[in-house]
Amino acid sequence: MKEFNNSGQTQLWFTEYHTPNSGITFKVKETLYRKKTKYQDLVIIDTYEFGKVMLLDGLVMLTDRDEFVYHEMITHVPININPKIENVLIIGGGDCGTLREVSRYKHIKNIKMVEIDKDVITSSKKFFPNLTKTFSKNYKIIVGDGIDFVFKTKEIFDLIIIDSSDPIGPGEGLFTEKFYRKCYEILNENGILTLQAESPYFYKDSVKTIYNRLKKVFLNVKPYLAFIPTYPSGMWNFFLCLKEETSLDVKNKNLIKSFQNVLKYYNHQIHTGSFSLPNFVKKMYGI
Ligand code: SAM
Repeated sequence: MKEFNNSGQTQLWFTEYHTPNSGITFKVKETLYRKKTKYQDLVIIDTYEFGKVMLLDGLVMLTDRDEFVYHEMITHVPININPKIENVLIIGGGDCGTLREVSRYKHIKNIKMVEIDKDVITSSKKFFPNLTKTFSKNYKIIVGDGIDFVFKTKEIFDLIIIDSSDPIGPGEGLFTEKFYRKCYEILNENGILTLQAESPYFYKDSVKTIYNRLKKVFLNVKPYLAFIPTYPSGMWNFFLCLKEETSLDVKNKNLIKSFQNVLKYYNHQIHTGSFSLPNFVKKMYGI
């Protein structure tokens, strides 16, 4: 075991509390960027263990080391259930990681990303070049409120991905039944809504509330899980919502063939396994 030696050097640490009594701590090399944007407190720090970390209002949005889990799982799971998806709407997602993953699919013709805070996009371009690279030109980035966009658009989408921050601050309205209902209306018959929804381990009440709201709108709501080391408890919940009872199996095994070797988390076994829930989570949802 390595002994800790207090060399007299000042050490900087950042802690995000996940509950009043626990959290995650990073030893910080330096603060790279800080701005009170129109919407939130945006900070980028460089850490020893997880590389660069983006914080919004003091909460970890992503880190260099584990961002791939979240971005691959919010994207490849729905697209592989419905390989006919061509029109995709991303709400939030200003770090561009979700856009990067959707853009891997050559058959997807139209990707729109609506992010409220342009500073998240510009700082991600500067500090997270690995997230902001795209693999097709079929996308458009709109700086604006995702709620406004969904209520005003005349377009119909095959997939809506809500890549939002937590249900506080500008992201709050993205977790309401009214918003989910409008998403339903602008999805086609075989359309899919996917969203991230907190930790079932720590935030049982909030995750259950989101599930119950979605169930009022969509016939078929399926929770799935991924392991994200820097998110509270490491166990992260996503929801996949459909208008009909459809199989959640991978429909076309060749769809990810050209890039499957570069994916670091998603594969077809993970796809199937992510819908298998631990007993305490099943009980929580009553399924
Ligand atoms: N992976 C992340 C997580 O779960 O912690 C999500 C990160 S992503 C950076 C979330 C984005 O949603 C933020 O950039 C935030 O500005 C954006 N956002 C929040 N409310 C929004 C709204 N009403 N319309 C569009 N974007 C919004």
